[in-house]
Amino acid sequence: MVDRRDFLRLSALSSAAALAGCATAAADKEGPSLPARKLNAPVVISTWDFGKAANASAWGVLVGSGSALDAVEAGARVPEADPGNQSVGYGGRPDRDGRVTLDACIMDAKGRCGSVAALEQVMHAVSVARAVMEKTPHVMLVGDGALQFALANGFEKQELLTEQSRMEWEEWLKTAHYAPVRNIENSTPGNAKDHDTIGILALDATGDLAGACTTSGMAYKLHGRVGDSPIIGAGLFVDNEVGAATSTGVGEEVVRIAGSHTVVELMRQGFAPEEACKAALERAVRRDPAYAKSIQVGFLALRRDGAIGAYAMQEGFTYAVKSGSREELVAAKHIF
Ligand code: ASP
Repeated sequence: MVDRRDFLRLSALSSAAALAGCATAAADKEGPSLPARKLNAPVVISTWDFGKAANASAWGVLVGSGSALDAVEAGARVPEADPGNQSVGYGGRPDRDGRVTLDACIMDAKGRCGSVAALEQVMHAVSVARAVMEKTPHVMLVGDGALQFALANGFEKQELLTEQSRMEWEEWLKTAHYAPVRNIENSTPGNAKDHDTIGILALDATGDLAGACTTSGMAYKLHGRVGDSPIIGAGLFVDNEVGAATSTGVGEEVVRIAGSHTVVELMRQGFAPEEACKAALERAVRRDPAYAKSIQVGFLALRRDGAIGAYAMQEGFTYAVKSGSREELVAAKHIF
């Protein structure tokens, strides 16, 4: 692990070498060269308590010598299929108009990525995102186009609104005074009922990273609203030279600071995973301190050597870790 002093020393040495004209061929990497570390792999981490079940599925892939990419997809599919999870996939809370719209993305060690936004009537949005990555020259498909693509590629169409989520939405309609301003739909923005997303990151035995993120988004959002989760660089970012990051919470705030990309770039500069997550959140706090106090945002990071870290705006963000014999739910530190 590079501590700050090592990092400064390494940077000073490399600038001195460059100044002395000792720099040889152009570097194949940008920025400071992180020293090789002992690889702690495989490892998988996921947001929230339901991440435990997702990790278990991903772990099965990783210990069977499967790839990080297969692992994160397998993990993300678990809450997507669970009607009891009302923030992801089947059973997700609908938008203001009663429609369940899903956002998801996936990214691998080679920087390949795929994404879908505002996808309706297909349970496994993460797998559609993977198909976008693998079968098209594009990164992102949205709305009807995403559905059309999914159906053409063998995904099944089904109703995603469960009786429970429909009843809660109808209850919400009785008191909702909708106006198109941010978070007006939420009685307490960022509370547990409005949010939750699975972001899952894995490092496989070969040292490859991958990540996935999938959600039904903010409950009772405006129809057509897309959050951070399907946006590469916001809800998820993977760079095999450095690490991977994912986010949960109020997506608009994560998009504003290109959150997951920021976390990865901070790790590239030598920040430890937890410090990188915290520093990214501090950008959002500096932007609007009063607003930042009222919302939840959480980042989760996995460095390329298997080191992990997380940080949240508020208390209450938990993440699940699976690595070797370690299997636990950890409460992230928080700013407020
Ligand atoms: N980040 C997701 C969104 O804004 C929701 C969440 O994680 O709670 O759509």
